[in-house]
Order: sequence, then structure tokens, then C-alpha cells
Amino acid sequence: MEKLVGFLTPALVYLFIFALHVALPGRWVVGYVTGKNSNEKLKYRLNGLVVLFTVLFTWVLLSWFGFIPWDWLYEYRWYGLAGAITIGLIFSFAMVLPHSAVKKSFLLDFFQGRIENPQLWGGRIDAKMFLYLAGAVMLELNILGFMAQHCILYGNHASPGMYLAAALLTFFIIDYLTFEEVHLYTYDFFAESVGFKLGFGCLAFYPFFYSIPLWFTVELPASQTPTLLLWLYGLIFFAGWVLSRGANLQKYYFKKNPGFAFMGIAPQSITDGTNTLLVNGFWGLSRHINYLGEIMMAVGIVLCVGRPSLVWPWLYPLYYVALLLPRQFADNKRCVLKYGKLWEMYARKVPYRIIPYIY
Ligand code: NDP
Repeated sequence: MEKLVGFLTPALVYLFIFALHVALPGRWVVGYVTGKNSNEKLKYRLNGLVVLFTVLFTWVLLSWFGFIPWDWLYEYRWYGLAGAITIGLIFSFAMVLPHSAVKKSFLLDFFQGRIENPQLWGGRIDAKMFLYLAGAVMLELNILGFMAQHCILYGNHASPGMYLAAALLTFFIIDYLTFEEVHLYTYDFFAESVGFKLGFGCLAFYPFFYSIPLWFTVELPASQTPTLLLWLYGLIFFAGWVLSRGANLQKYYFKKNPGFAFMGIAPQSITDGTNTLLVNGFWGLSRHINYLGEIMMAVGIVLCVGRPSLVWPWLYPLYYVALLLPRQFADNKRCVLKYGKLWEMYARKVPYRIIPYIY
């Protein structure tokens, strides 16, 4: 019976998130992409933080009163993962099969999706925003469940580095939900459709794989990382966050209000009369400094865990490298097509792709 409930837990959590996302107050914002066959920008209703805290509060209450063991999601993690994989597959098929083919190959269509920005009820539910929200909340629950296991096993001897890693992952989630609107200006929205990559990616991969730094380490005896090193690892994480969040916010303000000086940095840009590109601040360091930031954050988290010789936690930053490197090439290709000579000019002015002075 427990195993079945473990298997069904992600489905129940996702249903609860869906209900809260619909029912709780949210703010309407105008996004960056335009609707299909329309000149109007799509609208979105955002309430990610409220949903996250409501789910967490409910989960803690249920555990407090003994309905769910604190470490339930760790104890039944493999069943939870199997459940999430099943939902991810069902969702992906449901998003792809009813729509007409876009590519010649069904596999490509299935992987990338056939529709770009599906919405329900005039934007009250946006498929992409719901998927990111569901994945983020489920990931946070996993982090809590995994850390509960560590605390139960080691009590006062629990590892400060593990706590720090869990806190940084939590920060990463809260940061994303705080800046949900900024996310509307990213590649996922203007260049991707909803299929297996996003559907399975957010419902199964994101909440389970992103907890991999904790997954294989919470049962190990507390690592004894010196406090000074933990400070250094935290610094690596926050330096990465400044690069990533800073770049994303600078671009967001530039697109919304081109004259706005973000963090006191007056925007400098180049234009061909039709399009404009930022060439200073974070976007003057490299053409994807935000990707470097994201990788540094992941490295900071893994170092905090305190198992540098264990391969599993390292899969987390390695995955970012594997995701962001090809994405940088794909985005570059898209920008060459969209911006033409202007992009060449930008690439001459800012020659580094990701790491300033190196790559
Ligand atoms: P970017 O935010 O870099 O977006 C690229 C787009 O920005 C380009 O296609 C172009 O689009 C615009 N652009 C590029 N250069 C300029 C410029 N100089 N001035 C103005 N506009 C420019 O990439 P992503 O959308 O891929 O990533 C967004 C964030 O999400 C990053 O921080 C990334 O690390 C993060 N991310 C996180 C993941 C995770 O799992 N945690 C996964 C993937 C990404 P346009 O046509 O609009 O001008």
C-alpha cells in the first residue's frame, strides 16, 4: 500500500498545485511572446511563491500531525520517481498526439512538441508556467524529505554542509519563483514548444534529478568541511547568482524599458534601425554570462555537500554544461537569423560566448 501511495505522491502533489494555482490570488502580467495568429502579447497569471508556501505549509502540517512521515519522499523516492516518470510521459503524449505534425519525424515532434504556448482560460493557466511551478514545488518537497532523512539519521551530528546545500537549492527555487515574470523573456518561451522536453523535463526530470546532490549523500555520515570552505562555496554560489540573475534582469528591463539604468548601469546598445542589442554590463562580459552563473551556482551546491570524490553529485553541474553548451549554439544560430549583421557586430564587440577571456 505504502509503495502505491509513494508512486502516486507526485500525481497528488501536482493536482494540488494545479488547484492552488487556479484558486489562489495571482497577478496578471503581459509576457514577451505574441499569441499564434495574433499581434497581441500573451498574458499570464502568476502566483508561484504563494503556491509554493501553501504547499509547504500543508506538507509540514500533515507531517507535524503524523499523516505523512517527514522523510516520506526519501523513503519512497524510487516509487515517487517512477510515478513522476509515468505522469511526465502521459502529459507529453497528451500535449503532442492531439495536434498536427510539425516535423517529418514523430520522434522529433514528440521530443520538441507541436504547440508553442498552450494556455487555458485566457492565460489563467499557461502550460509552461504551470510546468515550471509544479517542478519547482516538487523539487522543494524532495529537498525537505531528503534532509529530513539526514536529520533523522544524524541528529546533532548532521552535516552543516548538507544544510547549506539544501538551503542554496531552496534559494534557487525561491529566486526563480520571485522572478517568474523575468522567465517569460527566456528561450523556453520564444523558441520552444511543449512536448517531452518540457513536459517530462519539468514533471519528472527537474524535481528528481536536481535533488541528485542530496539523493546519494544524505545517508552518508556528516562530512567535516571546514567552515571557511563552506563560506567559500557559498560565495561561489552567490557570485554565480549575481551573474545569472543580473544578466537576466538587465535584459528584462532593457526589453521592457530600453532607457532604464539597471543597478545604475546605463544601457549601451547597438542598433540597425530595426533591432537593438545590449552591449554593456553583464551583456558586455560575454554573450551568455548567465549560463556561466548557472553552472557556478550548481558547482557551489555540490561543493557544499562535501563529497568531492563522489561522482553522483557532480552530475548536477555536468548536466548544466551538457544543457547550456548546445543551447548556446542553438540560440546563437537563432540570433544570427534574427539579427543578421547586427549580431555579427555584437559578436565582434563581445567576442566571448560564455566565459570572459576564455571561451
Ligand atoms: P538568454 O536569457 O541568454 O536569452 C537569449 C536571448 O536573449 C536571445 O535569443 C535574444 O533573444 C536575447 N539576447 C541575446 N543577447 C542579447 C543582447 N545583447 N541584448 C538584448 N537581447 C539579447 O538565454 P536563455 O533564455 O536560454 O536562459 C535564460 C536563463 O535561464 C539563464 O540564466 C539560464 O542559465 C537559465 N536556465 C536555467 C535552467 C535551469 O534548469 N536552471 C535551464 C535553462 C536555462 P531576443 O530575440 O528576445 O532578442
